[in-house]
This record gives sequence, structure tokens and C-alpha cells, in this order.
Amino acid sequence: MPDTSTSVAHGSRQVVIGAGAVGVTTALHLRRQGHDVTLLSTDAPGSENATSYGNAGWLSPGSVVPISMPGMWKKVPGYLLDARGPLRLRPSSLPHIWLWLLRFVACGATPARARAIASALRPFLADAPDRHATLAAEAGVPDLIQRKGLVIVYPDEAAYEADAFGWQLRRENGVRWQTLDRAALEAACPGLGPQYAFGALLPDGAHCADPGGYVAALATLAREQGVRFATGHVDGFVVETGQVRAIRTPGDIVDCDGVVVAAGMGSRSLGAMLGDTIPLVSERGYHVQLPDVADEPAIPVMMSDLKFGITPMKGGLRAAGQVEFAPDGAPPDWRRARILLDCLREGMPLMKIGGFRTVRHWMGNRPSTPDCLPVIGPSPRVRGVFYATGHGHLGLVSAPWTAELIGRMVTGVPVPEAACYDPARFLRFRL
Ligand SMILES: Cc1cc2nc3c(=O)[nH]c(=O)nc-3n(C[C@H](O)[C@H](O)[C@H](O)COP(=O)(O)OP(=O)(O)OC[C@H]3O[C@@H](n4cnc5c(N)ncnc54)[C@H](O)[C@@H]3O)c2cc1C
Repeated sequence: MPDTSTSVAHGSRQVVIGAGAVGVTTALHLRRQGHDVTLLSTDAPGSENATSYGNAGWLSPGSVVPISMPGMWKKVPGYLLDARGPLRLRPSSLPHIWLWLLRFVACGATPARARAIASALRPFLADAPDRHATLAAEAGVPDLIQRKGLVIVYPDEAAYEADAFGWQLRRENGVRWQTLDRAALEAACPGLGPQYAFGALLPDGAHCADPGGYVAALATLAREQGVRFATGHVDGFVVETGQVRAIRTPGDIVDCDGVVVAAGMGSRSLGAMLGDTIPLVSERGYHVQLPDVADEPAIPVMMSDLKFGITPMKGGLRAAGQVEFAPDGAPPDWRRARILLDCLREGMPLMKIGGFRTVRHWMGNRPSTPDCLPVIGPSPRVRGVFYATGHGHLGLVSAPWTAELIGRMVTGVPVPEAACYDPARFLRFRL
């Protein structure tokens, strides 16, 4: 196996693959470190095709609670049997992902495991609102990062108490919150359905009011600072004696000293071209966005029972959520988006909401790993290649800290705290 620890001088030629939140932020960071950076992507920054476009925009230190938690396996059958539930698994996807699913359910199955994941996620989240606010200000779009806090609502205090372990993990990771009774909830979130009598306000949470616009603005900033942008679908690499020398697109070869693979779900096949196993599975998610809603809540709200979030966006109120496992390339199942609209009607019964045809709807691919942690670090097989992917439900919020870690790795600074994100942990994993 080649030595992947070689440091790279400032001013080296780096290609970043992928113009989502992770790739654009990383390209900007590498450029600021003095590298000669080209960002190559199938889609333009801010494109609807990237997952970074359509997410819920939550920038929450409270997201340390892993998706895989103790007892999750007991809830899964109920979710799957509920046609309007938050989880759907198309049977035709099962042969490809059953091993991944088993690992996923197991990774947070004990309190100790869930605790380890939470503390590994903390650095990405703890000061993410500050980092994003700084980036947005530098990009000339300070209004896109709104620091009003975030609210999670429950039917009653007993339901909140049933989530006690999650709140304990938040407390252990320095997250602050205050509980809200019905009166306080109504004040924070007018129009909330009467079925919600209890909640928690996370005052340090923030949200991005236009994730696609934000990525596009960061790309403009990166371009002004000297990052070159090119459109192209990377379909191969030139590797000589274990060192990457160039990347290939159908019409071009771009010479380089190093590559950062930040291509979201596309990172799995790019990894395979290099002989690396990057075991990403798409947790597909959906949103509906209502352009003209009167009396929308000023602050993002997560309905804990219905497992979806609503976020006031620049372009209207967005309801985002659902996890769907489907074969790669399968068409969206827009019934999942209709469910979100129904949930919104249920959660905010006073709001005037038109039919499905009146709302914008979108589907995207969360690039998720079987251990709930991102993949950040050197290729186990090819020198000069680094991965920055696998952020699952947390790629927007995690982008600045990911860029920082990659910046240190590319310049050869030891990053011992990133050991748990190392791609080499999947050396023996097979999808
Ligand atoms: C419904 C939903 C809600 C979410 N809510 C949140 C949230 O509130 N907060 C949060 O932090 N995260 C959230 N997420 C997750 C977040 O959106 C993702 O983790 C994040 O967008 C991933 O960013 P990325 O840059 O890695 O990938 P992407 O945004 O998908 O970008 C990847 C880019 O790589 C390009 N690419 C792929 N393959 C190639 C190739 N071979 N050659 C060249 N280019 C290539 C693609 O064209 C694309 O532009 C949510 C996701 C969903 C679906």
C-alpha cells in the first residue's frame, strides 16, 4: 500500500470534484491556503441536482444525536408499515443495501456507540453557525444565515422525556436549550397545531434561508479569489506509481498534484475507480416548498412525531424530510413529497395550503455511511487523493469544518482528531 502521508507544498495544483456545499467550501479554503484550485463538477454550483440545493437548511449544534440510536431497530417495522411514515424501503433495493442497513442499525445500537458518534460529530456542528455566518458575510449574503434558533416540538412532555437519551447526548456535547410549554410554543411558533403541547428551543441553532443560493454565492466568492470552475463529469483518473497525476472527463484531461473527491453520492463510483471502497448509500429525501404562505413561522420547527422539519426560506416555506431507500437512478416517488405536504397541513392547521400542484417539490440524495460518520481523509490506495464526503443528513452544516480538516491534510499537517473519519476504515467493507 502506498505511503499516503506525503505533504503537498502550498501552490500545488488541486482539483476539487463536486460543486455542492462541501466541494465549494473546500475549494475556497484550499485557495486561501495558496493552492492553485480547479473545481470540476457535473452541475453548476447551486444547481437543483445537488443535494446541497434542497435540504432543510438546519445549522444545528443539536444534530449531534445520531440517526442510528439504541432501540432504533424496534421502531423501523412500525415506520415501514405506516404508508405515511417517514421511512420507505423499496424491496428492489434490499439485495444491494442489506449489509449496509445492518451495519447502520448496529452502529448506534448501544449507548456507548451512540455517544462515540455524537462526540465525533460535535466538531462539525458546535460552532457551525459562526463559521457559516462568517462565510456568508464574506460572500456578500449575510442575510442567508439566520440566527434565530431552532425549535423541536412534541405532543407532550412524556414524548420529550422518551427522547431523554438524545437530550442527554446534546447536554454532554455542550448544546444549550430551554423547554417550552404550550403557551411559549404558541409565541415562538404561531399557528402550530394544538396537538403539540411541549417543545425545546435551541437558541444557538441557525438556518440557511436559501441553501442553493448560498452555495452559488460561495462559488462566486471562490471564483473572485482565484478558484477556476469547470463543468464536466469526471469519469477517470490518471495514476502513476501510486500518485494521482490527472483527472479525466469525456472531453478533457486536467493535470494536477492532488484531488479532493467531494462529489456527494457520486463519490462512491469515483472511489471505486481508484480502488477505494466508499460505502455510500443514498438516503433519499424530499421537500415541498410553498411560495406564498401568509403567517409562516419565523423560526424553523421540527415535528418530532412526524419526523420532518419546516424552514422559512427566501423562496417560501419549505417542509423537508423522509428517508427512502431505492435502487440507484430510480425515479422519485412523489408520494413521499405529498406526505410532507399532508404533515405540514397537520402540523400547521391554520395555514392556508393549496394542493400539491401549487407547491414546488424536490428529491435529493443524502450521501450516507454505515457508521453515521463522514468520510474525510486520504485515499488508502492513491497518493494525492482525499475524500470529503459521506455527511448524510449533515452535509450543509458540516461543510466549513470539513474544508478546514481537508486543508490541513492536503498541506500535510497531522490531523489526529480526524482518525475516526478515515476512509481506510472501510478497507474490508463490501457493499
Ligand atoms: C431532505 C433533506 C434535508 C436535509 N437537511 C439538511 C439540513 O437541514 N442540514 C444539513 O446540514 N444537511 C441536510 N441535508 C443533507 C445535505 O443536504 C447533504 O449532506 C449535503 O448537501 C451533501 O453535500 P455535498 O456537497 O457532499 O453533495 P452534493 O450537494 O450532492 O454535491 C455533489 C456535487 O458533485 C457533483 N458530482 C457528482 N459526481 C460527479 C462526477 N463524477 N464528476 C463531477 N462532478 C460530480 C454533483 O453534480 C454535485 O454538484 C439534507 C438532505 C436532504 C435530502
